[in-house]
Amino acid sequence: MNATILIIEDEASIRTVARAYLEQAGFRVLLADNGPEGVELARRERPDLVILDLNLPGMDGMEVAARLRQESDVFIIMLTARSEESDRVAGLRIGADDYVIKPFSPRELVARIEAILRRRRSASPMIDATLRFAHLRIDPERREVHVGDQAIDLTATEFDVLLALARRHGRVLSREQILDLVWGDNFYGTDRVVDVYVGQVRRKLEAVAGVPLIQTVRGVGYKFIDAVV
Ligand code: CA
Repeated sequence: MNATILIIEDEASIRTVARAYLEQAGFRVLLADNGPEGVELARRERPDLVILDLNLPGMDGMEVAARLRQESDVFIIMLTARSEESDRVAGLRIGADDYVIKPFSPRELVARIEAILRRRRSASPMIDATLRFAHLRIDPERREVHVGDQAIDLTATEFDVLLALARRHGRVLSREQILDLVWGDNFYGTDRVVDVYVGQVRRKLEAVAGVPLIQTVRGVGYKFIDAVV
């Protein structure tokens, strides 16, 4: 079954070009030219991935992303202007999976979408035993994380980052290794993205566990330090 992609973008020319390329790549494409309509379409049609312009009239892209995130863990790629570095970081913090800077090449956009959807596909058919640590229990198949009885709410990408670290517990992973394991070959941004995601995962885990579980190894990368049981 072909994946469904929802494009939320107020510029008609971008919608038109993106739709043409995505349909040619075999995707089913839905269009919305404003935030509220986009949120409504997402609720009704359950797309696999949303391409979300950050700069929308009315409800801006950040708020749209936050609303989408409240209801599902649909993949989100943000469209952003080159000057909006702080927006990109903020967008990743609230759970976008990737971003594309305007003006973008439609072929690059298609490549990014395929990379993200491939991550999900490669994650799902694996029969994967639950990882058990002193504080954390990670179920790769159901994509659930628990501290004791309490479920930790992670986005799809946050979960992948945690899983990459936890599978190599006790060993340091560099930012490049994490980028490679989680985002694969099709990521064109900087490894700053890794810091954002690890920071977010760490805050969510430690708020519940009450102890540090991911250690920063200065100048090198990150290490998952919960004890194996
Ligand atoms: Ca716009």
